[in-house]
Amino acid sequence: GLEPTPFIWFDGELVPWSDAKIHVLTHALHYGTGYFEGIRAYKCANGQSAVFRLREHMQRMVNSSKILALPCPYNVDELCKATIDTLVANKMSSAYIRPLSFVGFGSLGVYPGENPINTIIAVWNWGAYLGAEALEMGVRVRTSSFNRMHPNTHMGKAKASGNYVNSVLAKIEAVRDGYDEALMLDTNGFVSEATGENVFIVRGKTIKTTPLTSILEGINRASVITLAKDLGYEVVETQFTRDEVYCADEVFFSGTAAEVTPVREIDNRIIGQGRAGEVTKVLQKAFFEIVQGNNPKYKEWLTPYSY
Ligand code: PMP
Repeated sequence: GLEPTPFIWFDGELVPWSDAKIHVLTHALHYGTGYFEGIRAYKCANGQSAVFRLREHMQRMVNSSKILALPCPYNVDELCKATIDTLVANKMSSAYIRPLSFVGFGSLGVYPGENPINTIIAVWNWGAYLGAEALEMGVRVRTSSFNRMHPNTHMGKAKASGNYVNSVLAKIEAVRDGYDEALMLDTNGFVSEATGENVFIVRGKTIKTTPLTSILEGINRASVITLAKDLGYEVVETQFTRDEVYCADEVFFSGTAAEVTPVREIDNRIIGQGRAGEVTKVLQKAFFEIVQGNNPKYKEWLTPYSY
């Protein structure tokens, strides 16, 4: 379960964890009318800590509000400052950070009307999302029977609470069938993303990742693309199919929670050698060096803090 931390930032104030409550008739609870972020802070080698790509996450949060045509009560600067305040108040040297804005209590008509928008930022300890051994050994994946949303149903560029019903359906199906994660196809049958991660495949010296059409614009996806190019790999953003994934030398996921996680098996087909491939290992190592402040080249990706 989730270990409580002392404080949650709630509409501009740090309140004790157990007091951060809302009414059961909150609009967002009924209709999924919220938008959120998932961010990580890491303990750095120099004894300080740093949030990874904080501004980019908060810019995406503001973008989500725009896509959903819902107000965002705070700007990027305010959201960044509130995040650091929350980490410091909770004395967290590393954390998973969850900002969420949602349509609050008021009317319960579908039209959000004049309901308030509430905003929270919670922080807690969250280890490797798909399991510590998954970072080394890789995960087992099935192609979902559910498609990722068509851009004219729910718009996947918004990190909207309601969008996650699609992810939850796919995740439940995958886990109950004995897999760790689901690979989702778009409504045209091309590979889209996983329930909470973007997808990369490696064939020879080329790394492919899906285009932005049906996916969440992952911050880690962007980081991996930059990093891979800087390391001399060719990276192509292009559509590909599930059978191309089966034949890939390596497959891996990127995401804030999952970090860089290798995929060792898909639909009962072993990928490559059935464990983290060479390119995946290089990128994963580089990723952890960066987030832990051990690569000055990417220090603009880090927002340092101490308490
Ligand atoms: N796709 C989905 C559906 C997600 O939930 C996430 C996690 N936020 C990602 C991709 C990866 O995005 P990021 O790298 O920004 O965490």
